[in-house]
Amino acid sequence: MANRLPVDRREGSWEPSPGGLVSALAPVVSAHRGAWIGWAGIHDEDVEPFEFDGMSLFPVALSHDEHHQYYEGFSNATLWPLYHDLIVAPQYHRPWWKAYYAVNSRFAEAVIAVAAHGATVWVHDYHLQLVPDMIRAQRPDVQIGFFNHIPFPPVEQFAQLPWRDSILNGLLSADVIGFQRESDATNFQQSCLRLLGTSCEHRRTKIGVYPISIDVDEVLRATESEAVNEVARRFRSDLGDPATLILGVDRLDYTKGILHRLHAFEELLEDGLLDPKETCFVQIAVPSREGIDAYQDLRDEVERLVGHINGRFGTLDRSVVHYFHRSYSADSTIALYLAADVLLVTSLRDGMNLVAKEFVTARQGRAGALVLSEFAGAADELRQAVLVNPHDITGLKHAIHQAAIIRPEDARARIATMAATVGDYDVHQWARDFLDDLQPATAPADC
Ligand code: UDP
Repeated sequence: MANRLPVDRREGSWEPSPGGLVSALAPVVSAHRGAWIGWAGIHDEDVEPFEFDGMSLFPVALSHDEHHQYYEGFSNATLWPLYHDLIVAPQYHRPWWKAYYAVNSRFAEAVIAVAAHGATVWVHDYHLQLVPDMIRAQRPDVQIGFFNHIPFPPVEQFAQLPWRDSILNGLLSADVIGFQRESDATNFQQSCLRLLGTSCEHRRTKIGVYPISIDVDEVLRATESEAVNEVARRFRSDLGDPATLILGVDRLDYTKGILHRLHAFEELLEDGLLDPKETCFVQIAVPSREGIDAYQDLRDEVERLVGHINGRFGTLDRSVVHYFHRSYSADSTIALYLAADVLLVTSLRDGMNLVAKEFVTARQGRAGALVLSEFAGAADELRQAVLVNPHDITGLKHAIHQAAIIRPEDARARIATMAATVGDYDVHQWARDFLDDLQPATAPADC
């Protein structure tokens, strides 16, 4: 179960939605003749259950108003900023909470109706944190796992949430709760202890750390494709074959630190450490949550700053920042990784950051430098990146400069180590680990 079904409707027919999670879970669900429950992406319309790629898909209906209050409101204007270090102020509105509760109970009802006796139910992400307890109340026979794809905040921040006890109790009815990083698991356990006075041991809930990964074979297949390599060459030549191509690939989200990296880049040009005639910065900004004010404000600020930098350092025939407000296919994204010299991941807070894992995998056998925020989950594993605190603009400038001038042998060795780390734990292994822990015989009462 996830907020969204693994399909999108395009011109009247269903197509698989792109992304590592779908490619990891769809084969598992098919192999078990399983069901996937989620919203079909269409408002105010009942879609009947249907079969797709060996899975039974059960759409949950959402009205326009529920989408506004449960999804844009409580999930993405309350929980998202609260769970990402309060980068913008979370909004606490009682009608949003009511909608979140109502939609969670609709999702739970769908599981209760669909799951076979003794079934395994895997609930995904912060949109559905009340569901484990709602299922447990009526279906003591099923195994329930919950995976939180985003960070879990420190108790001092989480304590702001007026409905904090309901969220913790909602989760604690799961048999296994999975987090991305050790720090997320610790934060959750401290919240249970301090706010509920209960431990996970007491509830017989296993807390585990399962850092999500990517479909490594799929990325490698793309890097070996002649068509993808041709696109990569064209990207570079269309940009005027710069000596250094710096890349950012993000949803346009305030958690990603896009403004911080633009400020650092501007100062490097100003200081003469990067030459605007030889350097080019390409920023892909995928449109995201455009109905929410904070996202519209961020877009305005990013676009103003891009214009400002190009106004200062661009020439008649050459922009120094190339900004694209659109999404690219998985193959085009990999072509961009192949074309780039440096990838900037400067998240202020990020559950994992798959772009970082994709980049090092795609660059296997090549040079390339990754500047990676220590506030992204990926920093726990990708220790050979140039690690940065993106709030420290001087440090960030230094990191980008180091990455731009790194010796190719050094870059190649670092990429090789990081690619091997990702290769040892791909998204299939991630799913197996979680599901193994969820089996009744192996789900211990430890915490
Ligand atoms: N992505 C994509 N097209 C784009 C930009 C990104 O397919 O134009 C993919 C990217 O390859 C990655 C995912 O979107 O698999 C982003 O995941 P990540 O964990 O980095 O960030 P999130 O958006 O989940 O916060």
